[in-house]
Amino acid sequence: MPPETFRRKRNFKRTPEPRGAVGRRAASLTYVIQKHLARRLHYDFRLELDGVLKSWAVPKEPSVDPSEKRLAVHVEDHPLGYASFEGTIPAGEYGAGKVKLWDVGTWIPTGDPRKSYAEGKLSYVLRGKRLSGRWALIRMGSRAAGERQDTWLLIKERDTAGPSRRRKSRRLPR
Ligand code: MN
Repeated sequence: MPPETFRRKRNFKRTPEPRGAVGRRAASLTYVIQKHLARRLHYDFRLELDGVLKSWAVPKEPSVDPSEKRLAVHVEDHPLGYASFEGTIPAGEYGAGKVKLWDVGTWIPTGDPRKSYAEGKLSYVLRGKRLSGRWALIRMGSRAAGERQDTWLLIKERDTAGPSRRRKSRRLPR
């Protein structure tokens, strides 16, 4: 689905953000986080799926501690070309403020990403410069239940397949 809402919200004569094309095919799926110094600082977490960037606004810096879940508000799909955007959105425009790349890499979904996304239970591996290993995005409520926002949680999952854990488990008594 082309990011219609993304375009409707923006005046491309004024903002330096890319209008973007849809549908580039790549061998790997893009993952990016943009630090956005808007009216309220937040981190825009984006995962490529079906030719667009599925996007969540995370009000606090993502934490690699599995016990520190982060609220992630699902926002409109962004075009793939947005993944490399850095710049300043002018005052008065949607999302006015500075946008900086905070992390860039790829993501590897666990299972069928379309199905998981539709069910609100995305589990995946990140290969970024700052963030890596197993992560999840879990939908909390639903707009049908009267929620104003589509809220999810961004969670660092425990990495159980690491070499240290395997060595440890071999020492367990049989
Ligand atoms: Mn933003």
